[in-house]
Parts: sequence; C-alpha cells; structure tokens
Amino acid sequence: MKNNLTEQLLASFGVFFPQGIIGSYVNGEILQGEGEEIPLVNPSTGETFLSYKDAGSAVVSKAVDAAVAGQRAWAAVSHAERGRIMQEIGRLLRANLEPLAQLESLSAGKPIRDCRGEALRVAEMFEYYGGWTDKVYGNVIPVPSGHLNFTRREPCGVVLQITPWNAPLNTCGWQIAPAICMGNAVLLKPSELTPLSSLAVALLAEQAGLPKGVINILAGYGHTTGQAALMSRATKKVVFVGSVPTGSKIAAAAAQRGIPCLLELGGKSANIVFEDANLERAAIGAQAAIFGNAGQSCVAGSRLLVQRSIYDKFVQMVADGARQLRVGEPTAPETEVGPVQNAKQFNHVLNMIQTGVKEGATVVEGSNGEASGPGYFVRPTVLKNVTNDMTVAQTEIFGPVVVAIPFDTEEDAIRIANDSDFGLAGAVWTSDIGRAYRVASQVKAGTFWVNMYKVINVASPFGGYDASGYGRSSGIEALHEYTQVKSIWVETAVNPNQSFGYAPSLDS
Ligand code: NAD
Repeated sequence: MKNNLTEQLLASFGVFFPQGIIGSYVNGEILQGEGEEIPLVNPSTGETFLSYKDAGSAVVSKAVDAAVAGQRAWAAVSHAERGRIMQEIGRLLRANLEPLAQLESLSAGKPIRDCRGEALRVAEMFEYYGGWTDKVYGNVIPVPSGHLNFTRREPCGVVLQITPWNAPLNTCGWQIAPAICMGNAVLLKPSELTPLSSLAVALLAEQAGLPKGVINILAGYGHTTGQAALMSRATKKVVFVGSVPTGSKIAAAAAQRGIPCLLELGGKSANIVFEDANLERAAIGAQAAIFGNAGQSCVAGSRLLVQRSIYDKFVQMVADGARQLRVGEPTAPETEVGPVQNAKQFNHVLNMIQTGVKEGATVVEGSNGEASGPGYFVRPTVLKNVTNDMTVAQTEIFGPVVVAIPFDTEEDAIRIANDSDFGLAGAVWTSDIGRAYRVASQVKAGTFWVNMYKVINVASPFGGYDASGYGRSSGIEALHEYTQVKSIWVETAVNPNQSFGYAPSLDS
C-alpha cells in the first residue's frame, strides 16, 4: 500500500516521465539497463517507490557512441546559438521549477524550500554559462621569433561526470552547464540513489533544442556503470563529486588511463567564533552552517571552534536554536530539516554520535545515536567537550551533527582548524577586521567566509585543498577545466630560415 508521500512523488515524477519508465537517457531516449534492479527509496518513509535496472556496459557503450557524435555536432554549432540554447534551458528550468523541486524534495529528502532555491540556482547556472559561450578567448603570444603564435581553448571532448546523492539537481547543473558551454558532450552518472532530477534536466535540455547525444545520463551503480564509462577510450576527462575513498579510486583509474581528473570531495570545515563576534548572528550562522540539508553538505560547518571565554554560553545558544528547528517531512513548507537521505548514511550518522559519546563527548541537544522510525530522521545534534583528536572531529559525519571544540588564542584556532586532512571551507566570526583577514588567509580551505557561512555562487570558483580535492568548479575556472589549450604557430617570414629540428629564433 503506497502512502500519501509516495503518491505525491509519483505525481511529480509523471510530469517528466509520462510513460512511467526510468532508465538511462541516451541520445534522446530512455533506455532500460541490463544489470541489477536498483530500488529508489523515499527517505521520509524508508519505502521503495520505484526501481530501475543498472545501465551496465551495453547502455554505456550506446551512450559513448551518442556522446562522440553529439560532441561533434555540438562543437559545430555557432557559439551564439549555443548560448541561446543554454538560455532556453534556463527558461524551461524556471518554468518547471515547482515539479522539479517536488521531485528533488521527495526523492532526495531535502526540504522543499531549499529545493525551490536549488532549482532556481540550476536555471541561473545555465543562464550564466549561456552568457560565456562566445566570450572565452585565447591569447596572441609575443614570441621572439616573429612568428604568429596564438592559443585556442578547445573542448576536452566527451567528459564523464560522477555525482553524489546529497544535492543531485544542483550538482548536475553545476557540472553540465560549464561543460556544454565549452562544446563538450557529457556522460553524467548520478548517484544510483537519486537519478531522477538529473534525468529531468536532460529531458528539459532536449526540449530547449540541445542536440541529442550532448547530454547522456547513465543511471546505475558506480562500480559497474560508472567504471564502464570511466574505462571507455572516448572518455577524455572525469569530474568526480563525492567521497574521498571513491575519489581516490577514480583518480587512480584516470591516471592509469592517462586522462585528467577533477575531484570535489568531502570536508570537515572549521567555523571559528571569537569572543568579540556578534554572538546572536554567529549562532544563527552556526546552525545554518551545519543543519542545512540535514548536514549533508560538503561545506557544512561541522567543527564549531569557540573561544573558551564564551564556549559554554555560545554552545548553549546553538543548542537552543537547534531545538527549535522544524524537523519533518521534506515537502511540508515549514520543514527546515528533512531526513538523512539513505539507510547507510543514517546508520553512519547514528554510529558517529555513539562513537563521540564513547570518546567523551556530551550530547547537549539532539539525538543520542538511537534510531527512531519511520524514515531516516535525526534530530539536529550538538556535541560538546570535543577535542580535535576525537573521531567525530576528524571524520566527515555528513549529517546534522556539530562538534563544538574550545580554543584559547587566534594561533590556537588556526592550528586546530588546519589540523584536518580536509580543506574545503571554513569561516570566522569576529568584529576585528585584521583578525578576520589573518585567519582567512591562514586557514587552508578553498572557500572561506567572514561573518557569514555557506554563501556560494556560480560565478565564484569552488574547490578543495588537501583531501577535499583538486581543480575548480564554477566561475571562469570551470571553463578552463572543461577546455584544453592548443598553441598554434604560423610562419610569417618571406624567406623562412628552415633548419632541421627546431627553427632558430630570429633573436639568436
Ligand atoms: P560516493 O563517493 O559514495 O559516491 C559518489 C558517486 O560515485 C556516486 O555516483 C557513486 O555511484 C559513484 N561511484 C561509487 N563507486 C564508484 C566506482 N568504483 N567507480 C565509479 N563511480 C563510483 O559519495 P556519496 O556518498 O554519494 O556522497 C557523499 C560525499 O560527497 C561526501 O563525502 C560529500 O562531502 C561529498 N560531496 C562533495 C562535494 C564537493 O563539491 N566537494 C559536493 C557534494 C558532496
């Protein structure tokens, strides 16, 4: 018997998939896979609402052929026309914002208010990069030989993008838009747990006039479908968003194949609060930093570093705020914190809370690590008396759990912040501008905020230091990631001085 939520999900699903069938989107068609049956589970209930077959190597092979042909066709489309098509994708995303947000909310378990914002941001990504299609230039290099030497930025070709389950819609737009802007074709393998919104984006892109084969969505497991796409000779670059262990495997496979790789991995970001900060604002910021999307955010402010003089008072402020957050069914308009997305992650979050307590931490607010059904809900949780060497301070929990660590001085705060394998993001709260700048420049992180947290934009580069990955997404940096540079030399002399080997420079 299906419950109301599952019915709701199937209704928003029907807007994009009127035949009721899902699979992989290849060359403009939904293809059924040949592998294992993969269940899609509603995280609010734990019920399976749909299932589909893992794409497998036969579907991957068709997708690769489609992408090779699609890339050739797309690269031949004028830059201005590419821009117009991308703007139209943005317009269609806006027009379908509500069903898209519903689909994401129900299948990924994210609060509907966040999903509306994310759907809008994805539209903006296509609009932003739609404006870049004819604005990426090469250079003319003043070489000493007097030859004409210039560079062109050319597409990589077929790019494989592998994405996780925590923000599937957002991540799909984030990586597809800059890739197609520069004339690439895409094989996108979303998490096997959350393929629906990526399929919906591909269907809307086709309606907008994007040639078939430019975007292909491979629905299936990583170790089967993802690996087959990674091993294809046609795949010229891999962009991976996900966990450190999987990212390391993918980077090793890419290195074996000799293709470039970009890694957007996890984090354990330090959110540093000094005694001179505006504590009311910092407490709200600290909650948003960790409890947004139930903590399933790569940039989550999961380590709260608080100056010892205000430690008890400030941690209590964050705990009081956490208690008031509305946890509930993700499509309810008032919900601020939804469930954890899947059973494996749910168990990991509960285990980590229990580990924290065993190692000496105290639960000031939230879950004590016991499961309570139905669905994968975990109350926003604040752990106190944590030291930076504890498992909960070094491991990415990726759930609504913040660990509060005291510090004494500025140097102490920077040392603790940097005592982590990760380096994705961080923040400082202080009224001393000099201190803000010193801390911002000394904490290792790809993104750092001063008196704010978690604001990102498609125009600004994003990526990690250390184990949080390498390469940059968003901004013009993403366009560089999705191109390769060719240097072209032209003979200009009336009587060229030809010689065997390298032509001598006119200056030498
Ligand atoms: P994951 O690493 O388990 O899976 C990510 C993707 O890799 C999925 O699509 C999966 O199917 C695929 N995959 C798994 N094994 C594979 C293999 N052998 N070959 C090819 N593909 C394979 O990560 P997850 O649990 O889905 O996501 C959570 C992680 O993602 C967290 O660590 C989070 O911090 C990180 N994340 C990072 C960013 C960022 O921008 N830095 C953004 C969002 C999430």
